[in-house]
Amino acid sequence: MSTDVDFDVIVIGAGIAGMVCAHQLARAGHEVVLIERGQEPGTKNLSGGVLYCRVLEAVFPGFVERAPVERRITRNVLSFLNDTSHLNVDYWDSRLAEPVNAVTVLRAKLDPWMAAECEQAGVMVMPGVRVDALLREGDQVVGVRAGDDELRAHVVVAADGVNSFIAQEAGVRPKEPIKHLAVGVKSVIALPRTTIEDRFRVSGDEGVAYAFVGDCTQSIAGGGFLYTNLDSVSLGVVLRLDDLEAKGLSSADVHDRFLAHPAVEPLIRGGELLEYGCHLTIEDGPAMVAHDLTRPGLVIIGDAAGFTLNTGLTIRGMDLAAASGMAAATAITAALKAGDFSDDGLSGYRAELDRSFVGADLKTYAKAPAFLENPRMYSEYGQLLAEVFHGIYAHDLTPRKHLVPTAMAAVKASRLTLSHLMRDGWAAARAL
Ligand SMILES: Cc1cc2nc3c(=O)[nH]c(=O)nc-3n(C[C@H](O)[C@H](O)[C@H](O)COP(=O)(O)OP(=O)(O)OC[C@H]3O[C@@H](n4cnc5c(N)ncnc54)[C@H](O)[C@@H]3O)c2cc1C
Repeated sequence: MSTDVDFDVIVIGAGIAGMVCAHQLARAGHEVVLIERGQEPGTKNLSGGVLYCRVLEAVFPGFVERAPVERRITRNVLSFLNDTSHLNVDYWDSRLAEPVNAVTVLRAKLDPWMAAECEQAGVMVMPGVRVDALLREGDQVVGVRAGDDELRAHVVVAADGVNSFIAQEAGVRPKEPIKHLAVGVKSVIALPRTTIEDRFRVSGDEGVAYAFVGDCTQSIAGGGFLYTNLDSVSLGVVLRLDDLEAKGLSSADVHDRFLAHPAVEPLIRGGELLEYGCHLTIEDGPAMVAHDLTRPGLVIIGDAAGFTLNTGLTIRGMDLAAASGMAAATAITAALKAGDFSDDGLSGYRAELDRSFVGADLKTYAKAPAFLENPRMYSEYGQLLAEVFHGIYAHDLTPRKHLVPTAMAAVKASRLTLSHLMRDGWAAARAL
């Protein structure tokens, strides 16, 4: 292999994964270039916005104080929506504020801040450049081609997100079947800070994260979300592509109907639309651990490797992206030291991941994607809960019944059977 290189490492993609990896490598004294196709980091990126941020504290000490984060999430609401009702499990806990657990972020603000941190650490950030192909010598990846330019490095890191053509070109990840993909449609709505505090019962820099299931997706597998920022609200839907296609609905219409739902509209009433966007996400992150994550001279991280976790209660990808970036940086540093960029030389990446919460959590939630395929989650269960509560609170002058007979009557009136309840309950216990 040629030793004539421009950089020790080329990182493709200035998302969370790429920036964490590039930052850690530069801090370890390596020459790193970070190539981003957007005119500025963050312009191409979209996330719901709840970042489980302790991992970023490890990379950027004082992250929560220094970075442009919005609110610390101290209230989590799970909301079952039906067309005429909603039922919330509302969990507030001041312990979630300190030590900080999760914050809301807007990528258009966070990503440029992280890019500046990378530059300070010595990374050469190259925005407005799209990588078109990998350069190879035999089976060894030795650099990248962007337009007419070629750049060479000992190691290339693919951090180019969910559609990673690099991971596909290298044969690491097959083209995803649409069953494994979901589309997210998101709006950011401006609201005065005082309105957010009153409406969502939060004060200071505390915030709330809603996860919606049921009627928010018109029975399409997926869910809705709403997160409070300082003076705006991020909200939208995530819809599994195969189910969206099967039901013949448009993702934009499902999003608009979600925002107009009687349980949601009052939360954003009077607001002004600031941003609107769509982005793909991977639905079966846990299955991705089975794939190879390296090729000689190449390491795949973040969404490019498929690391996302949707349990219905939480959507996670940014923290996994950051942790995989850290794991890759540790492994690449060892490979640079040993001068071994073969699969063997880079095998420390898999070992680091398996030791970290990424490997552990992807295994723990391995059954979550299959569980979330169950269509009953998106219609019957929300309706059943609404019927039980209607039976408790709607006093129609008939004699009252105890809770169990009320619930049994609701089950009988639904399309659910006791066997469904037992099977789904057992599946939930194993998956979540
Ligand atoms: C609707 C929605 C809601 C979500 N909500 C949450 C949430 O609340 N919390 C959470 O933790 N996660 C959430 N996620 C997942 C999260 O956004 C991703 O897991 C995370 O952004 C992955 O980071 P990444 O760095 O791997 O990829 P990305 O952030 O996608 O970054 C990839 C970068 O690579 C660049 N790039 C791509 N191709 C090239 C190329 N050829 N040349 C140069 N640059 C290139 C892109 O422009 C981009 O900047 C959500 C996702 C969606 C779609």
